[in-house]
Order: sequence, then C-alpha cells, then structure tokens
Amino acid sequence: MNGNVILVGAGPGDPGLLTPKGRQALEQAEVVVYDRLVSPDILALIPSHAERIDVGKEASHHKVPQEQINRILLDKALEGKCVVRLKGGDPFLFGRGGEELELLEEYGIPYQVVPGVTSALSVPAYAGIPVTHRDYCSSVHIITGHARAGSALRIDYEALCRTGGTLVFLMGVNALPKICQGLLDAGMEPKMPAAIVEQGTLPRQRKVIATLEQLPREAEQAQIQSPAIIVVGKVCELSDRFDWFDHLPLKGKEIIVTRPADRSGTLCDRLRQLGANVTSYPCIRTVERANCPELDRAIEKIGTYRYLVFTSPAGPEIFFQRLFAAGRDARALAGVKLAAIGPKTASVLEKYGLRADLVPKTYDSDHLAQLMAQAEGPVLLCRASRGSDALPELFTKNGIPFEDVPCYDTVYEAPDSDKVLELLKRKVLVTFTSASTVRGFVKSLPGADFSNVLGCCIGPQTAKEAEKYGIAVVTAGEATMDSLIECIKGV
Ligand code: SAH
Repeated sequence: MNGNVILVGAGPGDPGLLTPKGRQALEQAEVVVYDRLVSPDILALIPSHAERIDVGKEASHHKVPQEQINRILLDKALEGKCVVRLKGGDPFLFGRGGEELELLEEYGIPYQVVPGVTSALSVPAYAGIPVTHRDYCSSVHIITGHARAGSALRIDYEALCRTGGTLVFLMGVNALPKICQGLLDAGMEPKMPAAIVEQGTLPRQRKVIATLEQLPREAEQAQIQSPAIIVVGKVCELSDRFDWFDHLPLKGKEIIVTRPADRSGTLCDRLRQLGANVTSYPCIRTVERANCPELDRAIEKIGTYRYLVFTSPAGPEIFFQRLFAAGRDARALAGVKLAAIGPKTASVLEKYGLRADLVPKTYDSDHLAQLMAQAEGPVLLCRASRGSDALPELFTKNGIPFEDVPCYDTVYEAPDSDKVLELLKRKVLVTFTSASTVRGFVKSLPGADFSNVLGCCIGPQTAKEAEKYGIAVVTAGEATMDSLIECIKGV
C-alpha cells in the first residue's frame, strides 16, 4: 500500500512557532526530509526510529537538486511510508512546495499541507516591526531577492514604489545593494526607514535599522549574513520602540540545561521564552532496576515502617509499580507516614491518592533530614543508588533505625559533548538541578576547562558539588525552578 506525504512548515526558527498540527505530523513520521533552515530544536522532535534525510546540506555548495528531492518523496511514499517534508517557514511561500506536490499528484500519492508561520511576517514581528499599521501603510508585499539560476534579478521597482506599502524581501542578502539602488532609482525617498534582520526569531537574532540609502553600508559593516529579511517602509521606524525581543531578560545568554531528557522540557522552554539560547544536555538519566529484591522484601513488610521517604519523583513511581506487582495497593501504606523531598515528588504520591506528611521548605536532602531529626524509626528510604549521605548520616547519629533501598541508578551520558565543548569556549551558564547533574556534566567532559562556566544551582548541596570541580556558582534562593530562573535573571 502507498504511504503519504505531509508537507509541513516548520516556522522561522523559534521552536515555539511550529504549529501543533505540524508537531503532530512530525510525531507520526516514519521518514522526515528536511531543509537547511529547519532549527535543531525542531529536528529534535523527530522520533528516534524515523529515518532522517537532510536535503539541505551545502557541503561544497552541492544541495540535493529539486528533481531528486521530488523523487525521494515519491519513492519513500511508494514504499508505504508516512513521509514528512519539513520546510522552513511556510512551504508555499518561496518554498517550492508546489513543485514537490506535482509528482505526488501524478502518481496518486495522498498528501496534505500544513502551513507554517512564514519568516516574511514573523521575523519583522520579532524585530518590533508590524508589517502593516493604519497610520503608515495599507499593504505589504513579499518579494524574492534571488534570481533563478542563470537569469538576472527581475523586480519591477516602480510598481513596488507606487503601492506605498511595506516591502519584505526574502533571500536578498547578496542583492541588498542592488535592491536598495533599484528602489532609489524608482524614486523612493532616500530617507525611507528600512531594516535587515538576521537569524530572526532565534536567540542570535540581529537587526540593523537604517535609511534606505544607508542600509547596504550598515549591513555590510555589521556583516549581516543569510538567512536575513529586508524590510523597507515607514513601519521600520517603530522597530526600536517595539523592540520586545531584544529586551527579554535573558536575551543573548547561552545556557546549558543538564536535566534528564524526560524532565528538561519545561525548564528549557521557560528559559527560551525569556530569550536565552538554550542547549539541552541531558547528561544523566535514571534507570529503573529491572530486579529489586530489596525493595520487594521491604514491600512485604511495609506496614512495619513508620516512615517512607522519597527523594525524587522516580522513587514513588517505582515503589508503586512493585507494590502493585505484589498484588497490593495504596491501603498497604495505611499507618506509614510519607516524606517527599519536594512538591514534584509529592505530586506523584497524590496521583496514587496519598498526601505527603513531610515536605521540607527547601527541597534538598539536608533540609529533609532536619525535618526528620525527631522521627521514630524504622524509616524506609526508597531512592537512587549513590544518593546523598545527609539522611543516612542523620539517622545513624540520632539512633533512628533505617533501611536505604536503591530502586534506580543514575547513569551518566555524553549525548553531544562536542557541541558543549564548543560552548565552553565562551561565557556560558549551566543549570544544575541536583548534585548528580553536576557529576554527570563533569564526567561527560573529561579534561574540559570550566573557567567560563557559571553553575546556576538549585540549592546549596548542588552548589557544593559544583565547587568541588572548581566551577563558579550562584545558588537559587529557594530550591524551586521559579527561584532558579529568578537567580539566572539576576546574573
Ligand atoms: N518558506 C520560507 C522562506 C524560504 S526562502 C518562509 O516562509 O519563511 C529562504 C529565505 O527566508 C531566507 O533567505 C531568508 O530571507 C528568509 N528566512 C527564513 N528564515 C529566516 C530567519 N529565521 N531569519 C531571517 N530570514 C529568514
């Protein structure tokens, strides 16, 4: 049976501008054929089992020719695959989307089109330029600044000038002097406000605002490169006034997030929304133990413990799996008090219909230990192997009987360490949300120089661990994500 093709617009770069429908298509893709302008954060959404075909590689200026791309889409669909053709911006705006559908149409391959947020409108928006404004203009025109191979640029500058509308040129970096001259020759005001915006919507976005006559020189001085968008029109005057993107509190900051992949999403998203350039570097992962006889034995006599302690959300998840596997349910915990290191862990307990009796105000083992100083045992600690010593030390000191049962292991990984080593050459912030993320980070980069790193730590224990490796630190006031983000804003 034939497969199908979904032509998806990936938006201009900011991963938040991929549409929900585009995201859904990506999640079901078996093959993804993508272009150079699609950002790595969006490529990261491609399921790991899907085949990826990069047709935008420009190694020695040899892009895959259009006919061959059309052929790849057809062949993969004929193999019965669900193919996503992922393109920058909107697939039908200077995206050759139409050309790619022709062959599919001929062969009767089913296809759909998911429009995308085009750079033509969104990049000006991120540069503070509303492409229309009732006080300035009543139309906007989108023009290519790139000529078809072998022919000259053919733009009717007179016609464009007559519209009095905002002019948006795509693919125009090389032709910028020609375009500006063309407009001037056609009678446009030399003082007409204009802009060029490079890497729009991305943390590295740069813009140059100048008059039409000055723009080529200023863009050259700033070494503006492709991809960039040229905007000509009175609306460019508003760019500095509406410059919301460049004023985001973390604009220009490089931040590496070291949380495990399954839990890094919200922190990365929140930092990105604040303008940071975020690299997710999940250098640790928790792996549940396939067999955990110690936990099974503890579960058999669960009613004999006075306290059950969890130090991360993985703890209760694994505990309940084993409890259910033993044919029992939450009622087995009737007389047992529950302690959770923080609200995330407590919310996992709530999922199972249970409330934590103890949650420290500062979410770390030291503070949990302080809360438990007067506990009468026995205590069951259900946590990672190689956990913090704070709790066992306190129980031993205070003569509280306890059992420390390792339910999962923390493994260290180096998913993309070359990229991180590159980032370490300049000033970079690294978030550490537990002592184990510090160890994972250091272990994954043997011999690396951390002198440019500022470790942004969730709490004092984590900070102590980072300092052991000579990493400069700042510490959140409270051990919460909100507080960590506030702390990063203050750096
Ligand atoms: N289909 C795309 C445009 C493809 S043509 C869309 O709808 O956005 C490629 C041109 O788009 C680039 O040369 C550049 O002019 C523009 N472009 C795409 N992404 C951009 C970005 N993030 N910043 C600035 N210009 C961008």
